[in-house]
This record gives sequence, C-alpha cells and structure tokens, in this order.
Amino acid sequence: MIKEIEYFLSGKINEECGVFGVFNVEDAAQLTYYGLHSLQHRGQEGAGIASSDGESIIREKGEGLVTEVFNTERIAKLPGNMSIGHVRYSTTGGGGIENVQPILVRSHTGDFVIAHNGNIVNAKELKMQLEAMGSIFHTTSDSEIIGHLIQREVGDFHEKILKALPKLEGAFSFLIMNNENLFVIRDKNGFRPLSMGKLEDGYVFSSESSAFEIVGADYIRGLKPGEVLKVSKDEIESFQYTDCTQDKMCSMEYIYFSRPDSSINGLNVHTSRRNCGAILAKESPVEADIVIGVPDSSLSSAMGYSDFSGIPYEMGLVKNRYVGRTFIKPNQHQRERGVKMKLSAMEAVVKDKRVVLVDDSIVRGTTSKHIIKLLKDAGAKEVHMRIASSPIISPCFYGVDTSTYNELISTRLSPKELGEYIGADSLAFLSNDGMIEGLGKNICLACFTGKYPTSMFSLLENLKK
Ligand code: AMP
Ligand code: SF4
Repeated sequence: MIKEIEYFLSGKINEECGVFGVFNVEDAAQLTYYGLHSLQHRGQEGAGIASSDGESIIREKGEGLVTEVFNTERIAKLPGNMSIGHVRYSTTGGGGIENVQPILVRSHTGDFVIAHNGNIVNAKELKMQLEAMGSIFHTTSDSEIIGHLIQREVGDFHEKILKALPKLEGAFSFLIMNNENLFVIRDKNGFRPLSMGKLEDGYVFSSESSAFEIVGADYIRGLKPGEVLKVSKDEIESFQYTDCTQDKMCSMEYIYFSRPDSSINGLNVHTSRRNCGAILAKESPVEADIVIGVPDSSLSSAMGYSDFSGIPYEMGLVKNRYVGRTFIKPNQHQRERGVKMKLSAMEAVVKDKRVVLVDDSIVRGTTSKHIIKLLKDAGAKEVHMRIASSPIISPCFYGVDTSTYNELISTRLSPKELGEYIGADSLAFLSNDGMIEGLGKNICLACFTGKYPTSMFSLLENLKK
C-alpha cells in the first residue's frame, strides 16, 4: 500500500484535456477543428481529429497547438459527417506523439477511435491485468486501456462498451466513434464536464459548452454522471453504465479551467467566479484603493470582490496573449521565465496605490510571488493578495495537474507564512464553505480538503496520516 501512495504522489501522467465531437453534420472535421480551437486553453501539447465517412476512419494528429497541427490540406484529408477531436495537456513524462489522441484501435470486428479527458485512477492495475492476458500497449496514456477493455468483451459494440466501463475508476469523459455511431460517455462521479448541442440535422458534443457558440450549435444539456449516449442516424439512446453515481464536478473547472463563457451544471463560469470574489470580499475585507485581477481566469472574481467591497475595479496587469499557460513549461526555471514573458504591470494604474490583487488559486506560489514583485516594482504602495479558492493541500488523482504533494506550497506554509514568502502585505484565501456557497454543493473539493469522493483515495489519505 505504501508503494501505491508513493506512486500516486510521485507525479504521474496527468491529463486535463478537451474533447469535441460531431455527428451527422457536413464537413464534420472542419467543425471539430473550430471546436478544438475554442478548447485550446484545456491543452496545448497536442491535437488530433478523426473522421468517418461511414466506410473508414481517418485520423490526423500532431504535437503543438491546433493551428500548428492542422491546415486546410490536412483537414481536407478527413472526410465524412462524423468526427471526434482532442486537445492534449500533459505534465513532464506524459508527452510524445504516440500519446496524442484520438487513439485509433484497428480490429477485425471494426475500427474505432477514442478521445478521452480525465484520469483513470486504477489504470496501473488494469494495465497489469490486461498485459498478463496478452494485450500490448502502444502508448503510456491511460486512454488506451478502454480500447483494450472494449476489445476483450463480447456482444455488439455498444454492449462491449457498457460492459467495459464499470471496470474503470476515476474521472473521464470519452468520445468513442466507429463507422456507424458516436458514443458519448461521462464518468459515474461526474468529475469532468461534457455537454450536448444541436446543429442542423446533427449533434455536437464538447468538454465545454462555450464551443457550441463558435460552431453555431444550440446547447441542449450536460450528460448525467454515468450516462452513455449512443448516437445513431435515427435516434439518440441513453444508457447508464452504472446506477451507483454521484455528482462531484471538479471545482477547479469553475475556479480555473473552463472559459468564463461556459456553463457547467447550469451555472455560468464567469458568474460562479464573480460569486466567489464577492464572498471572498465579505470573508476577508481590507482597506485599499483598487482591486485588480490576474488575467484571465481571475478577472471575474476580482469584479466580484470589487462589487461587494465597493473598492474600484481596475486593470493593473496586462497579458501578452501569445504566450501559453505558465504551467505547461516543464520545470520551475522555465515556469518562472514563462511568468515573466506573460504579464506586465500598469504603472499608471498601480503607482502609489493600495492594491487588492485577486487570483484564482495558489499552487506552487511562483505566479503570486512574481506578480507581487511586478506590482511593487511598478510603484504599488501595498499589495493585499486575495485568493478566490482555499489553500490547495492535496494532489488531484482525477486528472488535474495540481502537481505533486511536495510541490504544493500550502502543505508547507500557513497562509501567514505564505503571505510573507510571496511578499504580500496580507494574504487571505476563500474558505471551503465560501467555495460551496459560490459553486454549489455538488462539487469535488478534494484538493482543498484532502477528502476524496472515491473510496480508494480516502483510504490512501488515511494511510498517509
Ligand atoms: P503557482 O504559480 O504554482 O502558484 O500557480 C498558480 C497559478 O496557476 C494561478 O494563477 C492559477 O491561475 C494557475 N493554475 C491553478 N491551477 C492550475 C492547474 N491545475 N494547471 C495550470 N494552471 C493552474
Ligand atoms: Fe478537481 Fe481538485 Fe477534485 Fe481534482 S481533487 S477533481 S482538481 S476538485
């Protein structure tokens, strides 16, 4: 057991990807390209699209941004009115073209492709079992496991999928496509979002609802935890792969990941952040002249802080749009350099001011330390840091790179010590109750509380103590 804990805390491959699917719409691959483009913030390491014309499946993929991987010629190689696509995020060790999805499974019973967002927590055990039974893996990605599990089952393709899914533990949204159908799957805990939209005579599916706007589709609904949709020419059938479900949407989707124009479980992401910012102002007031947010994910919570406190909201930081997220740089040195390339302080706004600086979260402390220095160098008199979530004290086992236990700065420093470390005049976090008030009860807060909603990790946590 102890070995297992080390394994889980040692920084394995994490995936916080985005998936997009199209069924029964002309030029499906082209639409998928647009969909993936709007999900680019969920992963910048690789992108792939597979399409089917009902006869065969073609797949194109590569490392880099969607616009780097695809051009008009490459999209033209992907015919048909069914398509799935994927943008990939992975931390150190998880890279490489072989891990870029969709994964293509060639089989005598028919080819199929898989796109996956999330993390299968019993991947290691399943892989060992499957290898012992003769399966050969081509990638180090969790996602290939579902392909092997499906292959080993008997029955129609949809029966095989329904039999394979209960073997998986963890967080996942899958799109699985063969030459007839598209299968759309959400895990039984509801960790990762997945939505359905209507476009002309067909349907689109996306990790985030904001992608529907871009392709001109109408939002229909989010998938339920444990739901499997079988999408055919004539109908959409809904199955549950298990009745043992719970609604534990990842709170980080609201706090950091998703676009502000997405809605998750009926709550708009911008609104949720604004709510949290207002609650933060109520819980941790401070005397100051201006409130500023760290672009982009914290602007909404800074507005909320300003709403409640009455302190004017200002634009104190400007972001260079053409630099990727700091987290995707593989080591601390590169990460720090990434931060410097990304943000500039507005001297004209912050000079001689007492500033409330709102950010969505502190993980390793790199970003806040650097931004506070930027603001002070630009003449800010005081910088009071306010974080629109609680201290992150536990790693995520469900696919979000909140990094390993040892890297999480709040496991080592109290808020007071951390405030001093990052050079803030004061530091306060939103409480756990404040997060529930702002985001609702049906959320996972495990990285803030250490209480995991799946039994396996409650056990591991207890052993760790
Ligand atoms: P750090 O510098 O390590 O404290 O990172 C905190 C910053 O990273 C915050 O400004 C967040 O916007 C962002 N962030 C929070 N969680 C994640 C995550 N899981 N992946 C990438 N970036 C994140
Ligand atoms: Fe999201 Fe944290 Fe739960 Fe992971 S542990 S699913 S990051 S809330």
